[in-house]
Amino acid sequence: MAHINTHYNKLAAGYLFPEIARRTNRFLEKNPGVKVKKLGIGNTTEPLTPTVIKGLKAGVDKLASPETYTGYGDEQGNKLLREKLSAYYSLRGVDLSPDEFFISDGAKSDSGNIQSIFSSDSVVAFQDPAYPVYVDSNVIAGRSSGFNPDKGEYNNFVYMPCREENNFVPEVPAEKVDLVYLCSPNNPTGAVATRDQLKSFVDYARKNKAVIIYDAAYAEYISDPALPKTIFEIEGAKECAIEINSLSKFAGFTGVRMGWSIVPHDLIAEGTEPGEIKNLWYRRQCTFFNGASNIVQEGGLAVFSDEGLAESRSLVNYYMENAGIIREGLSSIGLKTFGGTNAPYIWLKTPSGMSSWDFFDKLLSETGVIGTPGSGFGPAGEGYFRLSAFGHREDIKDAVESIKANLIL
Ligand SMILES: *Cc1c(COP(=O)(O)O)cnc(C)c1O
Repeated sequence: MAHINTHYNKLAAGYLFPEIARRTNRFLEKNPGVKVKKLGIGNTTEPLTPTVIKGLKAGVDKLASPETYTGYGDEQGNKLLREKLSAYYSLRGVDLSPDEFFISDGAKSDSGNIQSIFSSDSVVAFQDPAYPVYVDSNVIAGRSSGFNPDKGEYNNFVYMPCREENNFVPEVPAEKVDLVYLCSPNNPTGAVATRDQLKSFVDYARKNKAVIIYDAAYAEYISDPALPKTIFEIEGAKECAIEINSLSKFAGFTGVRMGWSIVPHDLIAEGTEPGEIKNLWYRRQCTFFNGASNIVQEGGLAVFSDEGLAESRSLVNYYMENAGIIREGLSSIGLKTFGGTNAPYIWLKTPSGMSSWDFFDKLLSETGVIGTPGSGFGPAGEGYFRLSAFGHREDIKDAVESIKANLIL
């Protein structure tokens, strides 16, 4: 008799985006003809750059003749691309060998899969609020006994609240944990961990033999040179951290699909030798994954050319100008905002202590703008609201003008 993996039944989620869609549809039924303005989605909108298009086309052309055709590639990823990545990190003063890189189809898969190489009884800590895949993948793996609706938290998990008092970057857990997920620049809060804050996590992890899983998908959105773009800028991080990154938000690869994880040779856990965890991830990927698309990896190579980097950075600038327009517009009417300076998300404190969902309804009904309720990312997100800087400039301006003209405060 087949049984399903009943850990799936414990998932409280699947709620946030369907609920947004439900409320939006209800609004549209009552207000036919009104065009809603979406500032809710973490999805890129601007086309791939010319250099990347050229790279992708070259990847297609290679498949057209027997001399250059390739089938399955190295599971770990195109060697040339891993060398480019290694060179890209060395520009940040970080020395990583190409064989510490694992090319993937994106950071979401890696963020979800990485937990599978650690013991199923690991105690796991998460930022609260957080990008949902970290928590959900650990629920599915059976590390929680279930969701506690009164607390809005899963049992057995350690929540690290990100609040205004700590600039939305948490302190290290008070207790001993085994795995710690960190995302910086952060989705949803837009906060970026400083060097000292990251160092406190690295020190904590080394002391407790914990492993940090560091999602750096928005690293290229950091403009402040004092802020670390990779956790490996912190001394000792190679012993205790895995970094996950992606071209989705940097180069517009959300639909193209390419990411990478760095599992350093020096990384250790209780009872392992250096190299063992790296080999474990290699084993995992060889078993479950046949490598990222060769066409896509040609596009990835193009991103890391001089022109590709410059063009991708101008794409980032475009979104960050959007972020500036949103931030300034909201501030001008007295709303309190965070983030949006080194990350494409603006984290807004709801006015007069409204709940995140009440503010969602208010914003939609008064201005036609759709955002994302902070409480959907974890209990500490209650009373906050996320606006995304991904969008065409005109749409962003329309949304901000509508908020300025119509939101009743
Ligand atoms: C968008 C995003 C990613 C990127 O995921 P991909 O699978 O590479 O598209 C990763 N982490 C966070 C926090 C994100 O917001």
